[in-house]
Amino acid sequence: MTRIASHRGGALEYGDSTYAGFSATAQLPLEEVEFDLHPTVDGAIMVHHDSTLDRTTDRSGAIATLTTAEVRGAIVNHCHGGPAHTLDLDELCAVFADSSVEFRCEIKPGADGRPYRDFVPRVIETLERNGRLQKTHFSSFLLDTLKELGEATDRPRLWLVSPPVLQQIGADGIIALSCASGLPEIGVHIDCADAQLMKRVQHAGLAFGCWAAHATPQIEKALDLGVKVFTTDRPNLAIAIRQRHRAAAAWLSEEFPA
Ligand code: FE
Repeated sequence: MTRIASHRGGALEYGDSTYAGFSATAQLPLEEVEFDLHPTVDGAIMVHHDSTLDRTTDRSGAIATLTTAEVRGAIVNHCHGGPAHTLDLDELCAVFADSSVEFRCEIKPGADGRPYRDFVPRVIETLERNGRLQKTHFSSFLLDTLKELGEATDRPRLWLVSPPVLQQIGADGIIALSCASGLPEIGVHIDCADAQLMKRVQHAGLAFGCWAAHATPQIEKALDLGVKVFTTDRPNLAIAIRQRHRAAAAWLSEEFPA
C-alpha cells in the first residue's frame, strides 16, 4: 500500500508547519507526518520549513541566529486555530505521543546552504528522549547530512533528489550514488516520476517514493504508479483519493477475479 506523508502537517489545508496541522495529522488515517528542523542560537530545535522566519511568520531573521524566545514569539501566518507560535521538537513529539503516525524528519541546511554543525546528534537525542526515534524515518537533500545520520543511527534514511540533481546526474548516477552511500531509498519530485524511473530504481534494490504531490492528478499519479510513499500538502484530499482507489481496486478484483 502506498503510504501518505502529511507534508509540513498538511500545509495547504492547515498552514505551514502549524500546531493545528500537526494536531489534525496525528488523528488522520495516514502513515507519516513530514517536518523540517532548524536549531536556535541557544540550543532549541524548532519545527519550521524555511531557515528564516521571513516567509511564514510576522517576524524575520535566520532561526539559527535567533534565541528560542525570539523564534517562539513569531506568529505563524495562516494558522487555523490552536497556538500560533512555532513548535519545538519536544512539543511536536507530545502532539504525536498517542498517535500511530510515524515521523518523516527532514534535516535542513542553514540559510547558507550548509549543514548545521553538531545538529544531527541533538535531533536524535531529542527523538530518543521522547520515545519517537523508533518511529522516525530521516530524509535530506544533503548527502553529507545523510552520511552523518547513517553514522549516528540505524533508522531508515532517504535521499530527496531535486529535479536539477536528477537532470544533471541522471537515473544511473542517482542509483550509483545511493548504493555507494548505503542509502536504501530515494524520493523524487512527483512530476519527475514515471514507471520507467521507478522500475530502474527498484531493480537496483532501492525503494522509490515521491514528494510534493499536492494536486489531484499528482496524487493519482503516485497511487497509480504504486510508489512506496508520497508527501502531500493536502492529506485529507490524498486520503479521500486513496480510499476511492482502494474501492475501485476491490470492485475490479470482485468483478474480474484473477
Ligand atoms: Fe521538508
